[in-house]
Amino acid sequence: MDYYEEPAKRLPARACDVIIAGGGTAGVVAALAAARRGAKTMLIEAKGYPGGMVVEGGTALHSFYNLWKAFPGVEKRQVVKGIPFEIVERVSQAGGATGHAEMLVGYDYDSICTAIDTEIYKRVVFEMLREAGVHVAVNTLLTDAIVDGTRIKGVLTETHAGREAVYARAFVDSTGYGDLAARAGADYTEPNDYPVANSIGVGGVDVEQYHAFFTTHDAVSQYARGWRSGKLDQIVRTDGAAHKLPADFVAEARKIGMSFVTTTVHDDYFMFIKLNVKMPASSTDRDAAAEAELELRKRQARAIELLRQHIPGCENAFIARTSPTLCIRRGRLITCDYDITLDDVLEGRHFPDDVLAYGFHDSAPRLQIKNGGTYGIPYRALLVAGLENLWAAGMLITSDHEAHMSTRNTVCCMGQGQAAGTAAALCASRNIGSRALPYADLRRTLEADNVYFEGNGD
Ligand SMILES: Cc1cc2nc3c(=O)[nH]c(=O)nc-3n(C[C@H](O)[C@H](O)[C@H](O)COP(=O)(O)OP(=O)(O)OC[C@H]3O[C@@H](n4cnc5c(N)ncnc54)[C@H](O)[C@@H]3O)c2cc1C
Repeated sequence: MDYYEEPAKRLPARACDVIIAGGGTAGVVAALAAARRGAKTMLIEAKGYPGGMVVEGGTALHSFYNLWKAFPGVEKRQVVKGIPFEIVERVSQAGGATGHAEMLVGYDYDSICTAIDTEIYKRVVFEMLREAGVHVAVNTLLTDAIVDGTRIKGVLTETHAGREAVYARAFVDSTGYGDLAARAGADYTEPNDYPVANSIGVGGVDVEQYHAFFTTHDAVSQYARGWRSGKLDQIVRTDGAAHKLPADFVAEARKIGMSFVTTTVHDDYFMFIKLNVKMPASSTDRDAAAEAELELRKRQARAIELLRQHIPGCENAFIARTSPTLCIRRGRLITCDYDITLDDVLEGRHFPDDVLAYGFHDSAPRLQIKNGGTYGIPYRALLVAGLENLWAAGMLITSDHEAHMSTRNTVCCMGQGQAAGTAAALCASRNIGSRALPYADLRRTLEADNVYFEGNGD
C-alpha cells in the first residue's frame, strides 16, 4: 500500500457537553440519560436512524427479568428498569412489542420474550431523543478524535456536507466497533470470536403453520404467546430443535448458518431468520466484510427457498426487510479498568460500584447465573483505560467470550448506556474526569432515574 499525506484543512467547529458516538442499542439510552441530566448532548450515528443492533440483529430483548422460571421457588423479578424499560413501554404503546410474554417452552433459556417491531422502535426512539433535546446527528460518520494527552477534546465527523469538528467535555463510545476509542488511542484487540450475521424479516408467512411444523415433529424448543397485531395470546416466539426436524432440510439449513428461532409482533410476518458466516478476519477488515456482505445476501435468498420448500405456511415467503449492513456480535474489544469475568457472571457477583443488575446468559441452560439471580456491572468496567473522559457502553467490553455471551445482550447494553450517559453528564457539568466522579453521586442519580440495583453497593 502506498501513502498519501493529507494536507491540513480548516474545518467548521461546534461544541457541546457530551458526545455519544454511535446511536445504537446502548447509545440511544446513553444520549437520553445525558440529555435528561441537563447536558447539551450530540448523538453521532452513521445510519439514517437510531436503534443499532437491537433493530438489526436480534430475536428478542434479553432480558428485563431474572431467569426465575428455570429455578423452582425463585421469585419473578424485574431486574432492569430505568430508560431501557421506558423505551419498551413506549414502543409497546405504539403497537410495536409483544409485551413481556412468559416463555411456555424454553424457559430454562429465558423466562420472558420481549420482542419488538424494528421499524416502530426506530421511530419511537428517534422521537424520544428529540423530546429530550438531543442533537441527533444521523447519517454522520465519526472519523477521528482530537486528543490532548489523556483527554479527548473533540471528534471529527463526516457527512454529505463535508467534515466538521465537534468539541465536548465527555464522550461515550457506543459504536459497537469501538471506533472512537481506537481513534483516541485506547488499547484494544480484535478477537474475531463470533460469526457475523444478517437477519431477515420474512413476509407472507403463516405463523401458526410455521409453529405447527415444529409441533408435528415434536420439536418445539421455544414458545411464547403475547401481543400480535393488536391481539393478546398469540404466538410471538417459536423455535424448533434441529435434531428432530427432517434431516435433508436441516442439512441444507446448516450449510447457510440458518437458525429457526423467530419472533413476531405481526400476523403474516416473522423476524430474524439468522444467518451466520465466520469471517477469516475481524469485521473491521473492509474487503473481508464486503465478501461477507455478499455471501450473507446469497444465503438469505437460499433461506427463503428452503422455507418455501420445506415449511407449510411459508410457500409465499419473501424477504420483507434485511439489516442494512452485516450484524456483528463483537468488533473491537476495548480495554477498560475492569474486565468482567465468567465467574463474576455465573456467581452472581455484585460490586461496590455497580451501575446495573443483569440476569440473562445467552448460553443458558448450559450457563446460568446462580440461583436465577443477577450479577452487577461495575462502573470501572465502562471506563476506557488510559483516557480520562471516555466511557464504553455496549458489546465492546468484556474479553472472556463466555462472559461476553451475557454482557453483550441488548438489555445489558442499554443499561450500560444509561450508566455511561449519566456519568458523562455529571462529569461534564463538574468538568471532572470519569474517575473523579464519587460513586455515591452516580448511584443516587441512577436510583432517582429508576435504575434497579441488587447488592448493597458498599
Ligand atoms: C445476529 C445477532 C443476533 C443477536 N440476537 C440477540 C437477541 O436475540 N437478543 C439480545 O438481547 N441480543 C442479541 N444480540 C446482541 C445484541 O443485539 C448486541 O450485542 C447489542 O445490540 C449491541 O449494542 P451496541 O450498542 O453495543 O451496538 P449497536 O447497537 O450495534 O450500536 C452501534 C451503533 O454505532 C453506529 N456506529 C458504528 N460506528 C460508527 C461511526 N464511526 N460513526 C457513527 N456511528 C457509528 C452503528 O451504526 C450503530 O448504530 C444479537 C446480535 C447479533 C449480531
